[in-house]
Amino acid sequence: MNVILTIAGSDPSGGAGIQADIKTITSIGGYAAAVITTITCQNSLGVSLVSPLEPALVQQQIISVLEDNDVSHIKIGMTGSSGIVRAIGECLEHFSGEIIVDPVLKSSSGASLLGGTPSDLAPLLQKATVLTPNSHELAILSGLDCSSEKKGVVAGKRLMHEFPNLHALCLKGGHLHESSAKIHDTLLVKRNGDIMEKSICHVRHQTRNSHGTGCTFASAFTAFHALHHDYAKAFTEAVQYVDDLLKWGKQDQLGAGTGPLVHYRQNRQGREV
Ligand code: PLP
Repeated sequence: MNVILTIAGSDPSGGAGIQADIKTITSIGGYAAAVITTITCQNSLGVSLVSPLEPALVQQQIISVLEDNDVSHIKIGMTGSSGIVRAIGECLEHFSGEIIVDPVLKSSSGASLLGGTPSDLAPLLQKATVLTPNSHELAILSGLDCSSEKKGVVAGKRLMHEFPNLHALCLKGGHLHESSAKIHDTLLVKRNGDIMEKSICHVRHQTRNSHGTGCTFASAFTAFHALHHDYAKAFTEAVQYVDDLLKWGKQDQLGAGTGPLVHYRQNRQGREV
């Protein structure tokens, strides 16, 4: 069995971060190993503390996993400091599998989760095979206006030219036109020297329970890709996975604020149980 390694921050309330990653990967049928970069204190009401671990400790965790496991995919979320980014980059120098980077800059409640400047992420972007930004993250990483789907696609293509290892980019549309009833998610994939585009348009669910959606999408994409090694299929399935959880979780009452997704309602085939 292949191992998926997630490298991310801890959310003790279980909605986002490494806890969301482990639940997502497990519910899709993967085996999740997990390296923590940062301890956060947070719940559905917001983030009250962010404490990055020593880079050497993050590095030692990664080495422990990689030296003893056949890891096919590494998913990277919240890094927490530029020292941690560098430490991760060094560990991945000889890793030849898929590296899916979710460029987490801040929480939806506004707390900074990067612990440095966006340019600090460059060593990870150089190694990444897949990037899963929302439109804000893409605008910051590319330095381009991403205020429409079209502009986002231009910026995504630019970033893919800039970083030759990037084979695919999933542009999550949920943060764009937040009053719109529809969401457009777009996949860009390099194929024969060109970049192909695939968009999925789906209904925006009216729910307060959306905490951890970004982490869940990136982990779902990773886990589905580990199953069948197809970017387009993994994208479609990950969009559907998150969409189902948002739909099914509308009535949940976990926490007083932005509640979490509840991942275990899906069985291994991705159907409601
Ligand atoms: N906390 C951690 C540890 C995260 O990794 C993330 C996002 O990746 C968040 C919080 C943000 O989650 P949300 O924006 O859904 O609140």
